[in-house]
Amino acid sequence: MDIKVFKFGGASVNSAKGVRNVASIIGLFPGDSIVMIISAMGKTTNALEEVLKCYLSDDTKGMETSFERMKDFHFSILNELFKKKNHRVFSEMEALFDELHGSLRKGMNKAKKPGADFEYDRVVSYGEIFATTIVHHYLLLSGIPSRLFDSRELVRTDSSFRDARVDWNFTGKKVRSEMKEYFSGKNSFRKVAVLQGFIGGDQEGNTTTLGREGSDYTAAIVAHSLGTREVTIWKDVPGVMNADPKWFKNAKKLDLLTYHEAIELAYYGASVIHPKTIKPLENANITLRVRSFLKPLQKGTTVEHRAEWKVTHPIYILKQNQVLISLSPRDFSFIVEENLSQIFDILARHHVKVNVMQNSAISFTICVDADRISGTGVLDVLRENYTLRYNDNVELLTIRHYNPAAISRITKGRKILMEQKTRNTIHLVVK
Ligand code: ASP
Ligand code: MG
Repeated sequence: MDIKVFKFGGASVNSAKGVRNVASIIGLFPGDSIVMIISAMGKTTNALEEVLKCYLSDDTKGMETSFERMKDFHFSILNELFKKKNHRVFSEMEALFDELHGSLRKGMNKAKKPGADFEYDRVVSYGEIFATTIVHHYLLLSGIPSRLFDSRELVRTDSSFRDARVDWNFTGKKVRSEMKEYFSGKNSFRKVAVLQGFIGGDQEGNTTTLGREGSDYTAAIVAHSLGTREVTIWKDVPGVMNADPKWFKNAKKLDLLTYHEAIELAYYGASVIHPKTIKPLENANITLRVRSFLKPLQKGTTVEHRAEWKVTHPIYILKQNQVLISLSPRDFSFIVEENLSQIFDILARHHVKVNVMQNSAISFTICVDADRISGTGVLDVLRENYTLRYNDNVELLTIRHYNPAAISRITKGRKILMEQKTRNTIHLVVK
């Protein structure tokens, strides 16, 4: 049985029109069994983060306002999609919103709340639950046989809230058995299974999440579990581009990438694919397709194993909102291995990911995401032993398969603060 795995991100379901479009894409594959992985609608994850922030700081008014806004957003989509106001999707959605709202009201102003990361996963995961409930019912309304599954039961993780690690063994078995049962029942006409991206559940039944933008990863987990031939990620771009079209005029679509190249791109911050997505696909030799949900008949980008592959264009990756930090030991000593291991230990404990690093005799320089360090106190800890020099508001430009023209094209008019080259990649920290 070949099952197709399709992932639809938040941008594809950010309106009633978006949901209709997603259903019409499913209609293009009338004979296929499809597992659909869906993210929270539009910017719902950010909206839920806002609700959570108010909740954690006991700001009742702020919580109520942002909650209402988010609820209105979903209900306006519902109202447009479902003309019959007694359709059961309305009561199911009311119940979900009530459940979340009730738990927030109950926890508010309590001196002792569970950990912030635990609360994050519990609250923010509702975005995916709302989205899948709506899409599932809309598919049924459109005559597409659909069943809604619960990723909190299918995707088993450890309890590292906000960045949970997948239990591949448990998840693989569970996904296989549930999907096999569903798809190979007596009525073997085509069916669709809808499930939430991004979220999972630990052994105790707590909700966990896989890290922001983690729905791509869910698609990879499901495809790996089922051993499918392909996974398709439907995006608002024609495929993987050689630069973010929002930033770069004349961005070109890349027709073919190797897994290796895709991993490099994702790792350096190309936002088109979640970094953890590729490895499981590579291990099981599953082809990844990135296609446009706006132009579903076009080919998109194929990512797969190739013994030989030639790049067609330099590939540009921009990371904004970076901070460049240089650390020098306070005792004027050289930077030695002990310093590096101490620095990395501190960074790891504060979940700070280093995007680029460079060392000299007396200093060690790192480039990190500004929002990864703000509010963590990591700089104060580092200051205990190091003098810090600091450039904020800088950008990190990475070019894979660079050439002189490519470099001058993106550094024109910018001041280069740091440069690092390897054979295929150049990193430039610029102001
Ligand atoms: N909804 C989650 C997020 O926005 C996961 C995803 O979109 O992949 O981060
Ligand atoms: Mg999203």
